[in-house]
Amino acid sequence: MSNNNIKLVVCGGGGGSHAMAGIAACDPGIEVRVLTLFEDEAERFTNELKKHDFSLLYHHQGKEEEPVTTCKKFMVTKKPEEAVPGCDVIALVLPAFAHQMYLKAVMPFLEPGMIIAGLPGQPGFEFEVRAILKEKIKLCTIGSFESLPWVCRVKEFGKSVDILGLKETMHGALQVGESPPKVDPLLALQRCVGKSPKLVIEGHILGSTLMAPNAILHPPITYLKWKDWDGKPVDEPPIFYSNLSKESAEFVEEVSREILKIAKKIEEEHPGVDLSAAQSIYDYYCRILPDEIGDKTNFYTLLHSLEPHKNLRHPMKKTDDEKYIPDVKSRYLMEDVPDGLVVLYGIAEIVGVKAPKMLEVLSWAQNMIGKEYLVDGKMCGRDLASTRAPQRFGISNIAQILGEELVM
Ligand code: NAD
Repeated sequence: MSNNNIKLVVCGGGGGSHAMAGIAACDPGIEVRVLTLFEDEAERFTNELKKHDFSLLYHHQGKEEEPVTTCKKFMVTKKPEEAVPGCDVIALVLPAFAHQMYLKAVMPFLEPGMIIAGLPGQPGFEFEVRAILKEKIKLCTIGSFESLPWVCRVKEFGKSVDILGLKETMHGALQVGESPPKVDPLLALQRCVGKSPKLVIEGHILGSTLMAPNAILHPPITYLKWKDWDGKPVDEPPIFYSNLSKESAEFVEEVSREILKIAKKIEEEHPGVDLSAAQSIYDYYCRILPDEIGDKTNFYTLLHSLEPHKNLRHPMKKTDDEKYIPDVKSRYLMEDVPDGLVVLYGIAEIVGVKAPKMLEVLSWAQNMIGKEYLVDGKMCGRDLASTRAPQRFGISNIAQILGEELVM
């Protein structure tokens, strides 16, 4: 197993993909290939790279530092047959709804020992990978990480990316197939993301599905804010986190506790399965942003004193008279419900854990986005096929959730 030279495929063309491609291209031993299937991104990216050096714009305490120009050029293509053959690592750095398209595109070109990692994986990543790769999953090592390694945004497409924040650590888990990985997964992935965050691999891959901060925070806080809304536009987008009431903070913690109950039940019924990656939402923040929390007394004080979240506001749409209404098409509902909370509720249903707070949020959220995932509290609605709930993949018991038993 050698890690000196790594061939990396970065899937996607957004902020995360720009950041990873640029950072990895600074490592002289990494050959970077960007695969983007979306619209004309590959052509536009390639044209920009011909004209300019690619730059990473790091920000520290709100100030932009000197640009870091990547040490070498990299390839951008929309053809999986150009990107995938011979590679060591395929990193999916994309919104969850796009994973399926990329997994199907790379599948014909997979070779023994390749690593496929979702950064972030998002809930249900491993269910989707198993369902698409089928027998081919045995060739590969699958990795799922709890988030994107950076807070980042495309500055100029194909030219530069703002790296606004670096996390201290980022946890993930691996499912190793029958073919051993060609490169050491942790060392290789660490080099691909750079020095920070420090990657930590722990436990069963289901732990990454259950440690789902976006699903725990975004739909519940959106629900709590707008469930009693009178429909009248507001003067400005409300603050998202730092003025949450004590009752609302308690509600979010209760959602987090429901997920911990799922983890506990699975660990009890399948001794040896390590789901310790699934932490409470309070412990999660204390781990990823230890120096940014002003008051760690409890989750309420934590949210009210969390520096990077201070000014984050609810996603809103402007009305003709310059007021605001909630944007129900934002990712906080459109992504974090079908590829987030729905997955967790679906697992709770199979495992036999009651999750009344999740049910309350989902019953409201599905109406808001015009979908039907749940009928009478059961995961069998007509829009199940557009989610990553285990029920969509025919999963009906814990062994199948864990990938120990095939779904027939
Ligand atoms: P992004 O919004 O920048 O990604 C957009 C890219 O996704 C597009 O450039 C395109 O390549 C692809 N895409 C968009 N719509 C598509 C479609 N219909 N079909 C196929 N591809 C499509 O996202 P990002 O900032 O790179 O983030 C990636 C993931 O990481 C997301 O799930 C995001 O929620 C999560 N995340 C991002 C940050 C951050 O700071 N950017 C932080 C934490 C988590």
